[in-house]
Amino acid sequence: MNTPLRTLPISLDPLDGETPDGFLARLAQAHLLDEDDLRRVILQRIGRSWWPAVDSHIVEVLEELADLPIGSLLPDFERDGMWVRCGHHSWSPEKCAKCLRFAQPRTACRTCAGGRRTTTIARGAALCLIHGEWTFRELHADVAGISAYEHAELTLRARLWKRGVALHTGEVNLAAAFVRAWYAGAGASNPISDRLSMFGVDALDTYERVLLCAYPEVVRIACTLVSTAVITPVLDVRMSALDRAGVLSRAVADAIGEPENDELRTFTIRVVGHAHRAMLYMYGLRSTRQAKYQLSPLNRALIVAAARQRACLLRHANPRRIPDIAGKVTGAAPKPRVIRKWQNEIDELALP
Ligand SMILES: [Zn+2]
Ligand SMILES: [Zn+2]
Repeated sequence: MNTPLRTLPISLDPLDGETPDGFLARLAQAHLLDEDDLRRVILQRIGRSWWPAVDSHIVEVLEELADLPIGSLLPDFERDGMWVRCGHHSWSPEKCAKCLRFAQPRTACRTCAGGRRTTTIARGAALCLIHGEWTFRELHADVAGISAYEHAELTLRARLWKRGVALHTGEVNLAAAFVRAWYAGAGASNPISDRLSMFGVDALDTYERVLLCAYPEVVRIACTLVSTAVITPVLDVRMSALDRAGVLSRAVADAIGEPENDELRTFTIRVVGHAHRAMLYMYGLRSTRQAKYQLSPLNRALIVAAARQRACLLRHANPRRIPDIAGKVTGAAPKPRVIRKWQNEIDELALP
């Protein structure tokens, strides 16, 4: 059997939800080692010549190298697991012990990480509530003491998380696109423009910049978008998309807390138009390829259409409250085991 591995001299504690990749990078930085050299040591140990995407041996060797108790780098599903719509019990969001899904890795708080760069899958979003440090992708900002940001983070960790919503699932990106549209038509002085100057951001042109400068507004809009009571009537294809867009645009302006404007209305019409086309596709789904006349159950069809048409709003409609219309055949809904492997893609109209 293998002789015990020599452990590295500087010990690091893993952060909550830290990914093995992120921890490895941090461990290498702490020892002024090249990440690749550290990987080579691990590969030698497990007798491989290439770095596999998923391998529990790697995590074990990494734990051994870092002198950590076994299992320290395994994700904690109880604490950090995501809610998914997987169809194991129903198509509503649930924390499914069969699917064991986690959030996409995101940049962790630098202060938590001792000034080094790493990634985490912990339940949460961009704000570290301990250090008041806001971090997403390459952006960092000190937002300590801004209560609206803390409130937004808590909403993401509680209410939105339990609806299966995280920074990568699409709804928040779409909410950010609403803010960007509204901002383009807004007057010179408003809370968001004040934050642009505060954070030294020159334009709201990317998801991360909108998220940083309008965290509270984006999160409030995301709550509106995932509210079944708001979204189900908006998706009613018996009414005109133009009329439905009026309802949604007012709800979004309320969430921002500022007056509506033409840019917001125009963008909302595009969003609702896209969602209505996705609904028509949804009504045409059949339960299997063979059963040409058997409609797919609406709860499953909504999830399939949301993914295939990249229209996340459909995930938040109440299948019992939408009109039951027989549409022209558009396709067959795949089997649940196929559907649940799909990763959420962001909406066509969202900010990438
Ligand atoms: Zn499941
Ligand atoms: Zn922190």
